[in-house]
Amino acid sequence: MGNRNLFTLIPKIDELLEKDEIKELMRDIPRITVVDTIREEIEDLRGKIKNGISEEEIESTINNLPSHIQAKAQKKDSYKLKRCINATGVVIHTNLGRSLINKKIMENVLEVASHYSNLEFDLEKGQRGSRYSHLEEIIKDVVGGEAAMVVNNNAAAVMLVLSTMAKGKEVIVSRGELIEIGGSFRIPDVMSQSGANLVEVGTTNKTHLWDYEKAITENTAALLKVHTSNYRVVGFTSAVDSEELSVLKEKYDIPIIEDLGSGVLVDLSKYSLEYENTVQDSLKRGVDVVTFSGDKLLGGPQAGVIVGKKKFIDACKKNPLTRAFRVDKFTIAALEGTLKYYLDEKKAMEEIPTLRMLTMTKETLNKKSRKLKELIENNIDSAYIEIEIEDSYSEVGGGSLPTERIPTKCVVLDIKKISINSFEENLRHYDIPLIARLNKDRVYLDVRTIEDEEIELVVKGIKYALGVED
Ligand SMILES: *Cc1c(COP(=O)(O)O)cnc(C)c1O
Repeated sequence: MGNRNLFTLIPKIDELLEKDEIKELMRDIPRITVVDTIREEIEDLRGKIKNGISEEEIESTINNLPSHIQAKAQKKDSYKLKRCINATGVVIHTNLGRSLINKKIMENVLEVASHYSNLEFDLEKGQRGSRYSHLEEIIKDVVGGEAAMVVNNNAAAVMLVLSTMAKGKEVIVSRGELIEIGGSFRIPDVMSQSGANLVEVGTTNKTHLWDYEKAITENTAALLKVHTSNYRVVGFTSAVDSEELSVLKEKYDIPIIEDLGSGVLVDLSKYSLEYENTVQDSLKRGVDVVTFSGDKLLGGPQAGVIVGKKKFIDACKKNPLTRAFRVDKFTIAALEGTLKYYLDEKKAMEEIPTLRMLTMTKETLNKKSRKLKELIENNIDSAYIEIEIEDSYSEVGGGSLPTERIPTKCVVLDIKKISINSFEENLRHYDIPLIARLNKDRVYLDVRTIEDEEIELVVKGIKYALGVED
């Protein structure tokens, strides 16, 4: 007889749409999504019949169809950009959204975004204002400088500054600082896009003050320093710092621009991390214009901050590119909130998630790892999984402090019944995807980047990935 008549058992789309569960589903989920899901399920069913599954199995699949459709349609309807759990220990993880914003700040972001605001309205004068005004004072209070503005990201900040200060002119850069950051941000390319002409000086490992001086011509518009964020040149090296460069600045009246990358605003060596040149340091050393990211070590939203001499910042504000690079109200609100914490360094270290995670104490890491291990042991049979706590290292990430290895604690899983690769894949498909590190056939969960209130979710995710949900 063959399987042909089994096809007649497959319900029609319209029949399914009339079922109560499906009708109920369409109250929350658009009909088009539900219909798509039904089509896929039916297609699936046809495939199964072609592959010769039994009549019994077909019947039970059909009986379960509405609940299946419900689950699938809900998944289809969920947000594409969504919260994840970062168990990698990479704090500023560019692929996972870099810095987290403190929820207390988000209350004001929500308030501003869901109501009208004074985004470009001067409440004192009762007339049109500037969106940059909200951040300028706080930036100056925190880092110094005569003026400041904020654009979409640091790449845009560098481009805007070069275009404003050096279009059609020459900018001198050390060969040791011609960096690529990733996402195809390369200093030579940014330079040519901005219309400035790159003049390379020195060698990869050594650049001297006289290299810069020899390259100065009447066409020189600026000296550019670029922070080599994501790598280090070690050994027989020498670079000219901005303080030395300011000698040339005085002598030839040429401004210094510095792309600082990460935007460190506190001396991290006080917290057992590597010392990083802060924005304040650069300004004190005589740099005229400093640019840095908002969402790397500063710990705020994606943004590019430009701070320094008023005449250059004013010129940047008038550049038509500024309109193309401008920040929206969400960014302004989140950055203002983040910067306010810096008025009190202790608060910044406690309230800014990036800084809090980077400086997490040993005791906290121990406590968290023990809590996670215990919770897994209490919830999952040891036939499925073996658990250990191991010393390991976290990374700063985001191309910041690349040589820094921060001691951490990992909960390490040995997966028994399924392959480690399917386990890892399942973790990624959990409702709140869990991103972990694999090493030598074991799964590493670095507790530094797992928030306290996420520990139970991690256990649920593991149960889901093992297929032992209750
Ligand atoms: C990260 C970085 C950039 C790019 O900053 P975004 O905010 O990601 O656009 C530019 N320059 C340096 C030195 C960096 O480290």
